[in-house]
Amino acid sequence: MMKMMKMRGLMLLMVFTAVLFTACEDNDDTQPPAKPEVTILELGSSHDNPNDNMASVGGEFHMEAEIVAEGKIDIVQLIVHPEGEHDHEDGEHEEWEIDTTYTKFSGLKNTLFHEHLHVGGSAEPGDYHVDFIVTDMEGNQSSAEAELQIVEN
Ligand SMILES: [Zn+2]
Repeated sequence: MMKMMKMRGLMLLMVFTAVLFTACEDNDDTQPPAKPEVTILELGSSHDNPNDNMASVGGEFHMEAEIVAEGKIDIVQLIVHPEGEHDHEDGEHEEWEIDTTYTKFSGLKNTLFHEHLHVGGSAEPGDYHVDFIVTDMEGNQSSAEAELQIVEN
């Protein structure tokens, strides 16, 4: 009688181990979250011209971008900097750039970024480069870029 009980116990233990093992295998199949997908949908001087890639000195521009982050958004960074060489000898203009970090999207799996950014009143007209960088909570980073032309008002 005792021997039967022991056998039963052993059988149960084996079944239990098999279940545990299967569970571990399932975990190994789980892929890490995909890198964020970043798409700039619109960049322009106004809602009337949401895609003209232009902004005027002292004015503002509109930007809309879609972010999908399986690993949840941590920070969103927007950088606008002058493209190429610039001449500052006229003294009238100074180097203008944007380097803003947004934390308000933290924890979201997806969002529609919609912001209006101000262009400095002494910004030099010319070609600017836009970098839009998203880092998720797993440390994965993706970016999108665009061109922006700053014109004299
Ligand atoms: Zn807008």
